[in-house]
Amino acid sequence: MKLFIANWKMQLSLTEQIEYGQKNLKALKKITNKIILCPSFPALVPLAQLLHKTEVALAGQTCSEFEKGAYTGQVSATMLAQSGCTYVLVGHNEERSTGVSSEQVAQKALRVLEAGMIPIICIGESKEAHQKNSAKQVLHAQLLPIKEAIGAAPAYLAYEPIWAIGSGTTPRKEELETIFNFLKTEMPGCAYLYGGSVNKETITELNSISLLSGFLVGGASLDFKTFKKLIT
Ligand code: PEP
Repeated sequence: MKLFIANWKMQLSLTEQIEYGQKNLKALKKITNKIILCPSFPALVPLAQLLHKTEVALAGQTCSEFEKGAYTGQVSATMLAQSGCTYVLVGHNEERSTGVSSEQVAQKALRVLEAGMIPIICIGESKEAHQKNSAKQVLHAQLLPIKEAIGAAPAYLAYEPIWAIGSGTTPRKEELETIFNFLKTEMPGCAYLYGGSVNKETITELNSISLLSGFLVGGASLDFKTFKKLIT
């Protein structure tokens, strides 16, 4: 059984997100792989109500690094747990690119654990770092504060090379095997995921990487017919 995480980002309207759950409820119930949907915050409660008798889980797309307080616009990990989430994505590149540091990502992961959920920690190197062959150094630096903050607590570690996200290109299988073997030495207790242009063309090869517990899917998760081809 593999895990498939649908990261909808801010791509669907609130109505479209709820309709996705309503229209595909029967089909979602039948999927034997583990599915986690990451809708926008306002869609969490209605989707949690809709999906409560299914095995489909919900994840927040991020959370605050703080427990509570005067942080206008932020959403705490506890609120996400109360909204029906059992997982939260932290440190997605689209979040890091707004200036969120690895130290802040580590605090977010800690808040997720304290709220009784599992963090899905995203890491990945730029195209430039990839071309310079320095992916491992970048990943090591991203992981340092995370290891310090959460130790060996349960977590998913999602390797998402920035240059692969939304590009249609993925790293070669051998490159991925090298990276995941490296991540296994860095954070041994984690379950490892890959994200970045997972689609019907790339899934077969990616699925053959034995270290992988599953995939983060962006674009190919937005239309259920397309997503279904990956998850069944
Ligand atoms: C992502 O941004 O998490 C992602 C996996 O996107 P895509 O599948 O569209 O590359």
